[in-house]
Amino acid sequence: MKYIGKVLMMLLLILGVSGCQSSRAYEAKQPPMSDQLAEAVNEDAENTEGELEIYFLDTGNSDCIFINAEQKVLIDAGDNDDESMIVDFLKALKIEKIDYLVNTHPDADHAGGLDAVIENFAIGTVFISNGSAESKTYRDFVNAAVDRGLSPSVPLADKLFYLQPEMFMRFYNTEAKGSGNEVSLIVELVYKQQRFLFMSDAEKAQELAVLDQLDDVDLVKIGHHGSRTSTSQELLERIKPEIAVILCGKNNSYGHPHQEVLDRLTAYGIEVYRTDLQGTLHVHSDGVNLSIEAMAESDKLSNDKDTSAAEEAEYYIGNLNSKKFHLAECNSLPAEKNQIIFDSYEDAVNQGYTPCKVCNP
Ligand SMILES: [Zn+2]
Ligand SMILES: [Zn+2]
Repeated sequence: MKYIGKVLMMLLLILGVSGCQSSRAYEAKQPPMSDQLAEAVNEDAENTEGELEIYFLDTGNSDCIFINAEQKVLIDAGDNDDESMIVDFLKALKIEKIDYLVNTHPDADHAGGLDAVIENFAIGTVFISNGSAESKTYRDFVNAAVDRGLSPSVPLADKLFYLQPEMFMRFYNTEAKGSGNEVSLIVELVYKQQRFLFMSDAEKAQELAVLDQLDDVDLVKIGHHGSRTSTSQELLERIKPEIAVILCGKNNSYGHPHQEVLDRLTAYGIEVYRTDLQGTLHVHSDGVNLSIEAMAESDKLSNDKDTSAAEEAEYYIGNLNSKKFHLAECNSLPAEKNQIIFDSYEDAVNQGYTPCKVCNP
């Protein structure tokens, strides 16, 4: 308990938190979810399978990741103006309690909607990064937490936090000093044979610092929205991901994701999924296999497919590593050396390949 006390004390000193403040009413600041996304989320809420569901919410050039298992985890909550979308999304999934609310680092594109989440859901444990911050966004978040009697703390580095039997999460980079991307908590989630790594905005220096502790992963949430500051060759060689997810905004002013990062992912034959192109992404895992699909686009894509069923594609491109196959125009194609060409849909299926959930071949 020592670390909890220390960190809370530090926060109180930094922020000058005083007394109780009546909690702010939650107000919608921008249009909530699209009807299409709401429908897809509702379907998922009905469909609780007791396995692992991960949602990468499309909140623009910011992070918000929801892990739905027996225990619920929210990693970051977008920018300030994403809070209505996030709250509506979680409510549509019929979530009442977030067991672990994680703020990977104080930047506004990660801490923005956390105060609204705290005001709208029961919260178990609040985890924060080491270091300090004085921004208004961060202060709003910590005030909201303290008003609810919560004590944000830095997670212990070597502890496994079980979300259900055979599923745990663990944190890296818990002792970093500073106030920006360098303090980013890196979150690892292990479910039976599958491993997921969420890099927050960690940059190359942090990647190298934790490299020895990492293992092969099935899916990585790329660091810092696909910025060239992150996703080093060293990291990719160490974790050998099959799938990379980039959370970034359409036409964002930073130019995320940077081309050299995309090139590096392609060179390693990694399948890339992007919220700027595909919207909110949904991952399902049974601990052995995983599937990933774009939530709001799936209906649209299958409708398109129905209307053009007559014109069958001329060929399909398989990924030798992931055993998925794609349409030639899919933006998640593997590197050329990992490609196998099929003349027909049946050929691909007969050879044990499954259709990509994004391009829906
Ligand atoms: Zn950041
Ligand atoms: Zn960020």
